[in-house]
Amino acid sequence: MPEKLSTSVQYLKSVGPKRAESFSKIGINTIKDLLFYFPTRYLDRTTLLNSVKVVQHLIEGYQGEVTIIGQVIDSEVHYYHKKQIFKVRMKDASGFFECVWFQGAKYFKNVFTTGDHFAVSAKPVLTKYGHLQFVHPDFDRLAEKESKDFLNTGKIIPFYRMAKELRETNLGDLSLRRIIHQAVESFSNELTETLPDHIIKEKNLLALTETVRNMHFPKDYPSLEIAKYRLKFEELFYLECLVALRKKFHSEKKKGFSFKAQASPLKNFLKSLPFTLTTSQLKVLSEIRKDLESSKPMNRLLQGDVGSGKTIVALISMLIVVENDFQAVLMAPTEILADQHFKRIMEMMKPFGIIVDELIGGQKKSEREKVLRNIREGKTNIIIGTHALIEENVEFQKLGLVVIDEQHRFGVMQRSTLVQKGFQSDVLIMTATPIPRTLSMTIYGDLDVSVIDEMPLNRKPIKTYLRGENKLPDIYDFIKSKVKNGYQTFLVYPLVEESEKIELKAAQTYFDELSTNQLKDLRLCLIHGRMSWQEKEKIMFEFAAKKYDVLVSTTVIEVGIDIPDANIIVINDAFRFGLSQLHQLRGRVGRSDRQAYCLLVAKDELAVRSNQFNFNFDYLSPELIERNKSIIRLNSMVKYSSGFDLAEIDLKLRGPGNIFGTQQSGLPELKYANVIEDTKILSNARETAFKIIESGGNLSDQNNSIIKKTLKENYSNHIHFARTA
Ligand code: ADP
Ligand code: MG
Repeated sequence: MPEKLSTSVQYLKSVGPKRAESFSKIGINTIKDLLFYFPTRYLDRTTLLNSVKVVQHLIEGYQGEVTIIGQVIDSEVHYYHKKQIFKVRMKDASGFFECVWFQGAKYFKNVFTTGDHFAVSAKPVLTKYGHLQFVHPDFDRLAEKESKDFLNTGKIIPFYRMAKELRETNLGDLSLRRIIHQAVESFSNELTETLPDHIIKEKNLLALTETVRNMHFPKDYPSLEIAKYRLKFEELFYLECLVALRKKFHSEKKKGFSFKAQASPLKNFLKSLPFTLTTSQLKVLSEIRKDLESSKPMNRLLQGDVGSGKTIVALISMLIVVENDFQAVLMAPTEILADQHFKRIMEMMKPFGIIVDELIGGQKKSEREKVLRNIREGKTNIIIGTHALIEENVEFQKLGLVVIDEQHRFGVMQRSTLVQKGFQSDVLIMTATPIPRTLSMTIYGDLDVSVIDEMPLNRKPIKTYLRGENKLPDIYDFIKSKVKNGYQTFLVYPLVEESEKIELKAAQTYFDELSTNQLKDLRLCLIHGRMSWQEKEKIMFEFAAKKYDVLVSTTVIEVGIDIPDANIIVINDAFRFGLSQLHQLRGRVGRSDRQAYCLLVAKDELAVRSNQFNFNFDYLSPELIERNKSIIRLNSMVKYSSGFDLAEIDLKLRGPGNIFGTQQSGLPELKYANVIEDTKILSNARETAFKIIESGGNLSDQNNSIIKKTLKENYSNHIHFARTA
């Protein structure tokens, strides 16, 4: 980086050491950092209809948003059905208008001081009294002079996120804008380009310097769009370079053997099952089989909703490999899940003379040694365990297939680790977290994807209800009445893990209270987060054997646990869980042909409001989403049963940025692009990246040396993702 850009912001006019320190708190140290601190939005003439009068004339049938600049006259708080409504009256040179909020009166009262100038944007409406009104508008505070300038010249005003650290040093919007303006004017020329020339030309992109200038102070809206496009393209391009590099890395290793799927053992096994496979399961199996038969290593992701029957698909794949005299491994995220898989699979494999062993924590040393020896000598055909234990110095005689269950629990990185440890075999990754197509293309861009998109035929949809805490007595009666029909119940309490002591006490209190009062005639058991997995396992096992009617849990019931007679799940304080967690929890029931129930419990008022809430994402502003997240989550759980629908909603609630949590995927977070909205740019960037990497991928080539340099400089934390370092 040229020196000037790495100078501290301190030396910019009107910054100084104090403000430099507060900039540093929000991650801005150098001038370069500041150049990349882009506005979060702009006040733009194209949507500005500059007077109340104009808007009033236009309003009939007008669908879009408008922006108006006005001055606050006064504000007031109304009460309607015990709810606060906040109203601000404002004016401009031609007339009056008002802004209304149905929430947050306390906050807005402090924002809209009489005499201040604001630009407000929303869809305009007329009240029954004929007043121009904006409901929940976006708004920006303007200095008086600015608002005049803006109206007169029509230039675009950038708005920066004003962090509280900056505000504390008396920095206002206007002065921040000036500081940044100064930096852009004097230093943007110093930036070095981060994309190769041929890509910029071919894709008609804006150069980096222009991009940065346009992002801050665009002369018009189209030039802003061009700058944004360039940033998005670049970001997605480098993301896809990482994905392409990883794909190249994986496909370069040859396993050198191909398995034959022999018909008769498979037929016999299928005959031994108490059900027939769904069409979806069969389709996926044939995809896996092709991979196994090919001598290229399999890298396949198997997606299927909770309860769709992924395990059996994995088992049949392992069977194919074992029939070819190779070993297969199944890795689970938790000990309980590993042990459950082990017990079931061992039972199922017994008649076929296939030896199954497990590797989990808490095994006796001698036991473990024996298992390890059997694996080494090839006596064991199928090994089941937690990934940690399997990765640790296990020597296989002839490993053919690795299956990773419930992948979302440990992220894609796992696979790279496996390969690094010399596992050259086929890999099948299973996940219940449905990932929209565009996203899976990106995160798992180097994997082939198979989807189980139907549930076993015998399943009835789970009935989900949301109830207030005042309905708990009815819920307990319901549980009791169902015990007679052999139903079992999970009762879940989310506990914030404050301290071990408090958690233990709270868990015990719930349990004692329920067993002496509300559910005293039933047989209750308890698991909590402070038990060892063996203790939990013992209770789960007894619960599965119907020794108990109700399992009280203060920990998330392990993903993947399969207890067919547990057909009621009650989730207390349901608003505390995320959407995918709620869906996982609900997936613990409804695993047989009997009707299952999921009862979500929340504070009375929240339950009432959530049940009444009617939403359509197209009409929800980000603010409304932000303020109603828990309501939307609870409401969606009642409305939707498919994990796919819920995942789409979850994505909107969390924003796609979160999906790229580095822990999850090992990929960089996206700052500019949105993989849901920018799919065209994504495929364009992807194609470009793959072409370069795949065509020999020589990044030292002069044309592409910028790519190598940028990857090194800007993506060094993620390069391990591609395993090419
Ligand atoms: P998941 O996909 O969530 O891992 P599992 O593999 O645990 O689901 O399967 C859930 C339950 O459905 C298990 O009890 C399994 O035996 C059963 N199952 C799997 N496939 C079928 C099928 N085709 N018909 C009926 N039941 C099935
Ligand atoms: Mg499973």
